[in-house]
Amino acid sequence: MDTNPLKKNEYIQKRAQNIGLTMIVMGGSFFLYYLGLFGNVEGPLTPGNIGESLAGMGVTKIHMLIFFLSFFIIAMTWNHIFNLVSYIIGSRLTCIKKNDEGNICGASTEKIKIKNTENTKEIVKFKCIKGHKCSDASFHPVKKGVISHTVWVTALVFCAIILYCS
Ligand SMILES: [Zn+2]
Repeated sequence: MDTNPLKKNEYIQKRAQNIGLTMIVMGGSFFLYYLGLFGNVEGPLTPGNIGESLAGMGVTKIHMLIFFLSFFIIAMTWNHIFNLVSYIIGSRLTCIKKNDEGNICGASTEKIKIKNTENTKEIVKFKCIKGHKCSDASFHPVKKGVISHTVWVTALVFCAIILYCS
């Protein structure tokens, strides 16, 4: 209850930053697309306009690039999307109730809505499996592990190879 709201704000801020980063990446891809890099749109980067070597960029290579780019975006964002959904539906929450010794309960808890008898307004509460009711709960986001980070870096490297080395 004490530091938790702060932690939550920090979490939202981090997510927002990550979503912002993803948007930049996606925006960058669209920007390149409209410059004609992928050959679908006529622009300064259209293969035919930047030389013979890139003009040889066949349909297969464009498909490969789109594949790795999609792979990269998914690898970058899956845990953020998962966390956002978890956060909205109120899963991955644990109880923050402290016992007499000052230890946090930590049991799995769920979001419940209670109707206020006085003004019929709904209040959100968190009820853990041990029966504690709190006005707040601790959220546990999924973080990318080493493998996840390796996957998105690999996908990015493949994009770069297709773009610049073929
Ligand atoms: Zn509890």
